[in-house]
Amino acid sequence: MSLPWLEEHKNALNERLEAGRLGHAPLIQGPEGVGKRELARWLAERMLCLDPKGREPCGQCRACELMASGTHPDFFGIDIPEDRKSIPVDSIRGLIEKMQLTPSVGAARVGLFVDADAMNRNAANALLKTLEEPSPGAWLVLCSDQPASLPATIRSRCQKLALRPPPLDIAGQWLAEVCGEVDEPSRRAALVLAGGAPLAARAMLEHGEFERGLTILETLVEPAADRRSSKLLEDWQQDAIGTWQWLARWLALMMNRVRGVASADLPMADRLPADLPPEHLARLWEQALQGRLGASAGSVRQDLSLGKWLLEWEALMESRSRR
Ligand SMILES: [Zn+2]
Repeated sequence: MSLPWLEEHKNALNERLEAGRLGHAPLIQGPEGVGKRELARWLAERMLCLDPKGREPCGQCRACELMASGTHPDFFGIDIPEDRKSIPVDSIRGLIEKMQLTPSVGAARVGLFVDADAMNRNAANALLKTLEEPSPGAWLVLCSDQPASLPATIRSRCQKLALRPPPLDIAGQWLAEVCGEVDEPSRRAALVLAGGAPLAARAMLEHGEFERGLTILETLVEPAADRRSSKLLEDWQQDAIGTWQWLARWLALMMNRVRGVASADLPMADRLPADLPPEHLARLWEQALQGRLGASAGSVRQDLSLGKWLLEWEALMESRSRR
């Protein structure tokens, strides 16, 4: 899949790589859904390729074949283990050990972190030593959408590359190509709701997340009696992270509406009330963000937290109808 807005970054990375000016630990940072992992993967393939064709990995050499089949012995992908919530120190120790071996295929070894900020504190400390004393030919490629949560000592030893959402017309054109079956207004709305991040917008449209968001919006504005069903919280906690995310999105839009800011690409936002007290909206928005963090960290009884949030929302809507 080609992501046209990454082209300039590939050119820049390739130039630095060829001139020997690329630090041994590039940190690709930017919001979710702008193509950090895709760029990092491309860079790893480019670093390992034995016979690059201009800027691109050749796709034919032994290294490229091994990468394509997921069996390159000098490539190490680091991610959160399935049974864990963070990258543990053991993963990093294992990586460091492997990075010190002589490469089996070419001259390079690459460790790739798709989510570097998922390292726990011990893991980050263990990695620091490797960042301070890199062995020749060893690359660490890090991706992060929360770089501020990486220790400053790690960040300062990485070469930072910031990915931003592309201009809306470029993102919109790409989305039309990959989600052609979705109507144009929905594509535009998804793009705006995803903060302009094209991959996030596509995921929203492809996985039914967009429809789910609209359902949550309807729930928020429907008469109070319709919200009082135990089925609702059951539905909401099925995907608590997603629910919190949508609550935060709709709240952010309501805060915009109170300030008189509206987006022509989001006609559904007109369904949201524009006359709620901003300080209450801000509090509910904050709670939704906290809720999402909690749900991501695996905290239990999301039905209780969501139920508590809903009660506050109820009180706010009631105060509105009394005014
Ligand atoms: Zn190759």
